[in-house]
Amino acid sequence: MIVMKFGGTSVESAAAIERLAGIVRARIAEQPIVVVSAMGKTTNRLLEAADLAVAGRREEALEKVEALRAFHHAEGDVFGAAELIEEHFRELTELVRGLAILGELTPRSVDAISGFGERISSRIVALALQARHVDSRAVIVTDERHTLAVPLYAETNVRLAAIEWGEISVMGGFIGSTRAGVTSTLGRGGSDFTASIVGAGVGAKQIEIWTDVDGMLTCDPTVLPGGRRVKSLSFAEAAELAYFGAKVLHPSTVVPAIEKNIPVYILNSRRPEASGTKITAEGPVTKSVAKSISCKKSITLVNIQSTRMLMAHGFLRRIFEVFDRHETSVDMIATSEVSVSLTIDNVAKIETIAGELREFSEVDIEQDKSIVCLVGDNLRWQPGVAHRVFRALDPVNVRMISQGASLRNLSVVVAQSDLRNAVERLHKEFFTDVDPEVFE
Ligand code: ADP
Ligand code: ASP
Ligand code: MG
Repeated sequence: MIVMKFGGTSVESAAAIERLAGIVRARIAEQPIVVVSAMGKTTNRLLEAADLAVAGRREEALEKVEALRAFHHAEGDVFGAAELIEEHFRELTELVRGLAILGELTPRSVDAISGFGERISSRIVALALQARHVDSRAVIVTDERHTLAVPLYAETNVRLAAIEWGEISVMGGFIGSTRAGVTSTLGRGGSDFTASIVGAGVGAKQIEIWTDVDGMLTCDPTVLPGGRRVKSLSFAEAAELAYFGAKVLHPSTVVPAIEKNIPVYILNSRRPEASGTKITAEGPVTKSVAKSISCKKSITLVNIQSTRMLMAHGFLRRIFEVFDRHETSVDMIATSEVSVSLTIDNVAKIETIAGELREFSEVDIEQDKSIVCLVGDNLRWQPGVAHRVFRALDPVNVRMISQGASLRNLSVVVAQSDLRNAVERLHKEFFTDVDPEVFE
């Protein structure tokens, strides 16, 4: 068996679904399980509708739902999906009306709404392929952390093992349900994760992530176009790149794949003949120092100083306890004798966090920063990498530096306005003259 996951752009229209069908049918001998995202930008639109509804803008919310309904009919009716689209939109409309009355959006209701995209797209694609539809909510069991639920592997695997898979089967990505049967989601971009949970659970031969780029590129194309394709990566490199912003892969995707040692491919649904990126336990043997540059935008830098407390026992623990209590994860950390600097992505609780930190230290917050992260297994073996990074970045004001504990990444924090310049300079330094075995 193989798992083939198609992202939003790969199912965004009737034409895209036809392309998907062609790609999948050609692989029927491998008994594909197809995992699909919501069509196009449907998830964003659903979340916008939910926000409007609870903000008392009921009519606008219902207009959004109406526009989505028309969009799904326009692209899905040709596959005979008109009736199921109507059914789903009746339920969705009721839900949005209910939210408007309640005026409150809990994580649980966010999941109820955002899950509609994959519920509908998977049914449409199953019709297009005349394939068996498997409801992910009956299979992927998660904990109750709605909007960022964690799969419960033991139970999920029992359910996966009980399924009689069709010649071709189709499931929605992103969604699951709690033990109590309430719809949950795995976090934005989570359909990749669904694919690898399923792949590992059924012992698939490979997991394929079909998307809108030729594979993992040497830099984020939305920041700097013209990156090269990376032909192969190790699991550890892919995980690091995904974690530090390479959106093409959800950061948790490699976790189940590593467990069962299943290769993951990133492929382009618009150019199925291109060979993509292959991700396996052992990366290729190469002299290349770095494999790619990832970046994370809209990062907040928190500088904490306490001359009184710093050398005192338990200072770092006190700092991290504050972040932990407010469920805010820290990406990068640098410490010096008199200060601790760290970066966070999620600023929802920043005011409270800063308030608590100020009880025992001085806190300074800098917004609109970006993390730029150079990744490669070979980074740790090569002397002089830091020197090359700083020489390349010479004119750019670097606010923070960190070499990750894995020694596979070297990260810097720069102002968002310097991001492109920083990436361009690093890209020129590390990807001008490259090993053709690994890069195209
Ligand atoms: P899908 O809807 O198929 O899941 P995503 O939008 O989640 O697609 O991921 C694909 C996008 O990831 C690309 O269009 C590209 O803009 C972005 N991306 C960011 N960094 C990289 C990178 N290093 N290599 C390739 N794509 C990247
Ligand atoms: N549709 C979901 C999202 O937009 C999941 C995914 O596409 O991977 O986040
Ligand atoms: Mg994605």
